[in-house]
Amino acid sequence: PISLDTATQRLAEGVLAGRRRALSKAITLVENTREDRRRQANQLVSYLLPRSGTATRIGISGTPGVGKSTFIEAFGLFLIERGLRVAVLAVDPSSKISGGSILGDKVRMEQLARRNEAFIRPSPSAGTLGGVTRRTRETMMLCEAAGFDVILIETVGVGQSETAVADMVDFFTVLLLPNAGDEIQGIKKGIIEVADLLVINKADGEFRDAAKRARRHYANAVNLFRPKNPHWKTPVVCASGLGGEGIDTVWESAGKHRALLEEHGLFEKLRRQQRQRWFQQALEDSLLERFQAHPEVARKLPELRNAIGQGQMSPHHAAANLIGLFMGDPQQN
Ligand code: GDP
Repeated sequence: PISLDTATQRLAEGVLAGRRRALSKAITLVENTREDRRRQANQLVSYLLPRSGTATRIGISGTPGVGKSTFIEAFGLFLIERGLRVAVLAVDPSSKISGGSILGDKVRMEQLARRNEAFIRPSPSAGTLGGVTRRTRETMMLCEAAGFDVILIETVGVGQSETAVADMVDFFTVLLLPNAGDEIQGIKKGIIEVADLLVINKADGEFRDAAKRARRHYANAVNLFRPKNPHWKTPVVCASGLGGEGIDTVWESAGKHRALLEEHGLFEKLRRQQRQRWFQQALEDSLLERFQAHPEVARKLPELRNAIGQGQMSPHHAAANLIGLFMGDPQQN
C-alpha cells in the first residue's frame, strides 16, 4: 500500500468522495509535466488505481462534422436518465492551448455540462500523442475512482489517435455519415478492425433512406473482415444524435458486448491487456523523454540529423552514438 503526503492524501479523499473540485484539481495535476508534480501524480494514480476499473469505457470516434458532440450529449443525458454518472473525455493531440478543436467550445454539450451527474473535460492541450493519451488514461482512472459509471472518450477519426483510444476502452464506436458513398467504396479496413460498433449517424429526416442503404453496405463490408473478437460480430446500426433515435440500441449493444466478454472470461483479460499496454507506453514515453532531455544528446542531435540527411552516416551508427552519450559510455561512439 502506498502512503501519501498530507496534501495528496486530502486530494485522494476528495476524489474518492466524488467531489468535482478535487477531481478537477487531480486532473490538472496529472496534466502537469513538471517533474515533482509528475511524482505526486504517479503516487495519486497508483493509490487510486485499485478503486477504479469497473466503469464501462466507451470510445466514440468519427470525422469532424459527423455529429460526435451532439451524439455524446444525447447519449450522456440518456445514461443519466438511467441513474448513471457519466464522464466525457477527449483525445485530440491537435487541440490548441486556447481550447481545443474538440470539446473546447463551451457551447458544445451545454445541457450535459449543466448536469451534476456529468463531468466533461476537454483534451489536454496540444502535445505528442503519447503525452495526450497518458493524461487521458490517468484522467479516466481518476474519474472512475470518483464514482463515474461510464466514461465516454471522444476522438477524431484519424489514424493514430483512433487506435490509441481503441486501445484504452472496452467498446469502440465509430460514427459514420449516411451519404458517404465514396467512403463506403474506400472503407478503411482499419476502421472495421478496431470498431466494436458502427453507427450510421444522422439517420433522420431526408437522410433516413440513405442511412438504411449505408447500413446495408457497411454490414456487407463487416463480413469481409475478420472480427477483432471471434465471439462478436460488429453490428451496424442507424442512429440520430439530434433526434435521439438509436441511442438506446448503442447502449444495449455495449451491454451485450460487456456481458459476452464476461461470459467468456475475456473482460478481466481485456483489463489486464489495457494495463500492460499502458505500462509499455509509459516505458517508451519516459525513456524517450529522458533521452531527449539529456543535455549531451540534445546538443549532438542536430549535427547527427544533418549528417544522416546528407547520407554521411548510417542511422544505426548515429543512434548508437547517441545512446553512448546517454549512457555515459564512450565505447559506443
Ligand atoms: P462533431 O464535429 O462530430 O462533434 O459534430 P457536431 O455534433 O458538432 O455536429 C455537426 C453538425 O451536424 C451540426 O450542425 C449538427 O447540428 C449536425 N448534426 C449532429 N447530429 C445530427 C443528427 O443526428 N442529425 C442531423 N440531421 N444533423 C446532426
